[in-house]
Amino acid sequence: MITKQKGTYDVYGVDAKKREYVNDVIKGVCEKYNYNYIETPVFEATELFHRSVGDTSDMVSKETYDFKDRGDRSITLRPEGTASIARWFLENKLYGNMTEPVKVFYNEKMYRYERPQSGRNREFTQFGVEFIGSDDVMADIDVISLAYQTYCLLGLEPVIKINSLGDKESRDNYREALINYLRPHIDELCDDCKQRLEKNPLRVLDCKVDSGSEILKNAPKIIDYLNQESLDRYNKIKDYLDLLEINYEEDSRLVRGLDYYDHIVFEIYVNIESIGKMALGGGGRYNGLIKLLGDIDMPAVGFAMGYDRTLLAMEEAGVKIPINENIDVYVMYVSDTEKETASYLTQNLRLNGFVTETDYLNKGLKGEFKSADRLNAKYLIILNDKDLEDNKVNVKDNMTKEEEKVNINDLVDYLDMHM
Ligand code: AMP
Repeated sequence: MITKQKGTYDVYGVDAKKREYVNDVIKGVCEKYNYNYIETPVFEATELFHRSVGDTSDMVSKETYDFKDRGDRSITLRPEGTASIARWFLENKLYGNMTEPVKVFYNEKMYRYERPQSGRNREFTQFGVEFIGSDDVMADIDVISLAYQTYCLLGLEPVIKINSLGDKESRDNYREALINYLRPHIDELCDDCKQRLEKNPLRVLDCKVDSGSEILKNAPKIIDYLNQESLDRYNKIKDYLDLLEINYEEDSRLVRGLDYYDHIVFEIYVNIESIGKMALGGGGRYNGLIKLLGDIDMPAVGFAMGYDRTLLAMEEAGVKIPINENIDVYVMYVSDTEKETASYLTQNLRLNGFVTETDYLNKGLKGEFKSADRLNAKYLIILNDKDLEDNKVNVKDNMTKEEEKVNINDLVDYLDMHM
């Protein structure tokens, strides 16, 4: 038997309905914040991710699905959304006549060759937003507040962890201080961090292997290396967060896994008794990315969250997801002679907005009653030739069990009135 690939999953039934619910909440929030929906291709030129995300990130160096297509092109399944959107922005020259910032959201499958575990898969869905064209902290706040509100509306109690990576000057100063501090301890770092130290020392700070070590705990903090401008900017963000009553914490070790961030970086987590702290998503400002890909100066800020962990968190937090498992009407027939009318009525009721089912397996009345109960039908329409001769059907309220004969022409009005 052919089975699904490791780290992939099929979504069906209640799980699919839960995802649909999360989708609806996300869509509602994005509409309010005026973000437009965007879809980008599942595969892109490999170079897009290597240039943007950076070769020192685990995601690109170890986790991408890379392959040659039949035309010998190097292709990568997208591991994240931001690089594709930057590519789209540049390819369509949207920087040409920008009168408003570009605000988009996506809801797409991503691919990373990771070790599958709870809330971590090889194919997974991410929701994310990108706000391109404003360097104002108001744009940072727009994105953070959208992320925060999404989780609140999903019934969770999110906390935003924030840090600032400052501008290039601040980062260069910090980078030097960090290398000087870490170099004498190089033998105590994990093999990956030994490599990262010279290429991208900030990444050492979010290493999962070394995270508990004393060396990292005592490392210099980036906040002490921010120049005045970067510090003012960071303080302003905190003022806004206070004003908007967004629950946040500062974390000097937060650098995020990707190379293209500057200034604000943030992560969203929840703290649930049964599972402890769990990061659900994150983002930050990436003013250098579009320049890197297309030589255009263009400030931008964004955020992404994973569905798997969000649903896991909702489950663990006991969030009741409203799932409608009822249908409105079940159309039943006694014998073959009523089937045409059953088919016509089923179609007609659907066209009039009722969730309607009927019997496709010739179960007979007894089986049909059972099906109607399994589907939680609110109303049963029972057809028999005798009633049909008078253009009538038998309508049964499946809760009260009351029955009434209704003229077929009045059926829609009758159901509208009673539903
Ligand atoms: P990142 O793009 O790595 O910053 O991840 C943002 C969010 O996407 C994470 O907080 C997770 O919720 C989710 N995510 C990242 N990688 C995976 C994965 N392999 N499987 C499921 N969700 C993921």
